[in-house]
Amino acid sequence: MIYFDHNATTPVDKRVVEAMLPYITSFYGNPSSLYKMGRLVRSAIDTAREQVAALVDVPPSQLIFTSGGTEANNLVIKSISDHSVIATSVIEHPSISELARQWGDLHIPIPVNRQGVVTIAAIEQLTQRLAKPKLASVMMANNETGGVQNIAEIALLLKSAKILLHTDAVQALGKIPVSFAQLAVDFMSLSSHKIYGPKGCGALVFAKNLNLTPQLIGGGQEGGWRAGTENVAAIVGFGKAAELAKLELDSRAEHCFLLRQQLEEGLKSIPHVTIFSEQAVRLPNTLQFSVEGIDGEMLLMQLDQKNIAVSSGSACASGGGKASAVLTSMGVEQQLAKGAIRVSLGKDNDAAEIKQFITVLKSFVMKG
Ligand code: PLP
Repeated sequence: MIYFDHNATTPVDKRVVEAMLPYITSFYGNPSSLYKMGRLVRSAIDTAREQVAALVDVPPSQLIFTSGGTEANNLVIKSISDHSVIATSVIEHPSISELARQWGDLHIPIPVNRQGVVTIAAIEQLTQRLAKPKLASVMMANNETGGVQNIAEIALLLKSAKILLHTDAVQALGKIPVSFAQLAVDFMSLSSHKIYGPKGCGALVFAKNLNLTPQLIGGGQEGGWRAGTENVAAIVGFGKAAELAKLELDSRAEHCFLLRQQLEEGLKSIPHVTIFSEQAVRLPNTLQFSVEGIDGEMLLMQLDQKNIAVSSGSACASGGGKASAVLTSMGVEQQLAKGAIRVSLGKDNDAAEIKQFITVLKSFVMKG
């Protein structure tokens, strides 16, 4: 199979599986237990925390493990009390946007331009409002288009207006450098299964002296911010995946970028192809496009029959037959948005797969 859907999820790296196995088969102790096996497991969690923290350049004490990016996003938004105004960009993942909808009149949408970029002017407007939000959430990179936001500049503006900033770095992690220390953000969400780690594990990073409102109350794990016996094997796997991502970040990015260039050249030889966010800074592995007059879901199914896995938008939104909300909010026409196909490449893809994809795609498009 040709797997071109790494923004939906990645295969677990063999080296990650190896690191996890002992914590499934041999070291099953509860990390809260005081005897030797408990302490050993506790120290494996500590190591994983250091590994993930090192990838995003933050002290391990400012990182808690969660069940994934969704929980990290929920924890931040729900930590902001009900009667506070919040602002979120219009291209956020549903784990932000669906929650934000529940804020009703207290929610301010932050618009993007046609390239899917939150402009500095939009942020300036936010800072000049009478009813300023307590928190703004702007994702670092979009899961569909791969568009990367200028978080550093947004953070500085919001900081001077005393507005907290959360960034969902789930898609950026492992693909471009992500440094919590260098960005003046207050909260950052991460997920393991987008960086060749296991599913069901993620993290929330937060600035010193900031308080969260725990959503899970119990045995006081994760510094009391997130109770529940830790998912040890997954946390160990996330740690290993983060260590590998740090070591291999540049080579993975370069590899994906070259493949994406090849893909882009191939696509441009097909008539009536639109590449979304083409003028924006994008993740090196992501390319979302439409072929005029061709339905995205239908194309996806045809590619599936040839054993090529792509997405017609975000995994969560696919299957609904609706135009992508991200593209719609960028001002893309309904028909074109409905045709969207997302190709998201990974470290193990190669040039022959791109060539085959283009050949197959051309044959479908020519048939109409
Ligand atoms: N945020 C973004 C941008 C995502 O793409 C995803 C997953 O697709 C999530 C959050 C949710 O992460 P998880 O699957 O770990 O809950």
